[in-house]
Amino acid sequence: MSKRPGLLISVLFFLFCTGCVTNPITGKDELMLFPEEQDIALGKKYAPEIEKEMGGRIPDAGIQNYVDYIGQRIVRVSHKPDLEFHFAALDDESVNALALPGGYIFITRGMLENLRSEAQLAAILGHEIVHVVARDVSNAMSNQIGIQLLLSAVTSDKTPSGVLTAADLAQQILGLRFSRKDEKEADLGGLDYLAAAGYDPYAMVETMQMLQNRNETRPIEFFSTHPSPENRIGYLTQRIQNRYFGHADLETGKENYRKAVLDRLSN
Ligand SMILES: [Zn+2]
Repeated sequence: MSKRPGLLISVLFFLFCTGCVTNPITGKDELMLFPEEQDIALGKKYAPEIEKEMGGRIPDAGIQNYVDYIGQRIVRVSHKPDLEFHFAALDDESVNALALPGGYIFITRGMLENLRSEAQLAAILGHEIVHVVARDVSNAMSNQIGIQLLLSAVTSDKTPSGVLTAADLAQQILGLRFSRKDEKEADLGGLDYLAAAGYDPYAMVETMQMLQNRNETRPIEFFSTHPSPENRIGYLTQRIQNRYFGHADLETGKENYRKAVLDRLSN
């Protein structure tokens, strides 16, 4: 037994409480080595790099405003309605969507072209919003890129000591993979956000069916192969049956989406 219980207690307190943050999605305390204030700084710093790596913004203010408008509608019913989220549609052919820490969310032209309704767009954005709220992105980044490198990337104006250029780091961010558990939470949390915002939650299932019908060669965030699409459709359908069965007057917004996105992209 330690002769200095005070010290022991402070060490234990440090080990078990510092960096513990309640994940609003799971309600559980999680160890978070990356301070939350750094999320926004990191997102802000790398958002322009990601945009550059992925073809820049689609040069259509109408589409950008629409994506932002739908994104903000989901943010308002999320666990972080006060966090300032930024949404952008990027001119990249891959069918993808991704989030940076601190609320920077991107969706690609390839994804927008494959969606068929406003509710489906809300489903994709909802999934990414959950990754931000649950801080999955910061966690994956600290695990896969390394906490030291990330913190120095945020605090220094220069590229971290010649190890990685900003573009290299952006590539690493694009290659981030979340755990199966994180993906499932993002699917189910996104489904709940959809319904809370008044959209038909079945739109989340439709986006998974779209994935199933595609054969992506390169790995992409939203269409993670784990859990498998079949598995994702299974647990999403079950939650709709349990929580939202028989809900009427839910929006799909097919016509809105066609006018605001599909017609404009094909012009
Ligand atoms: Zn995801």
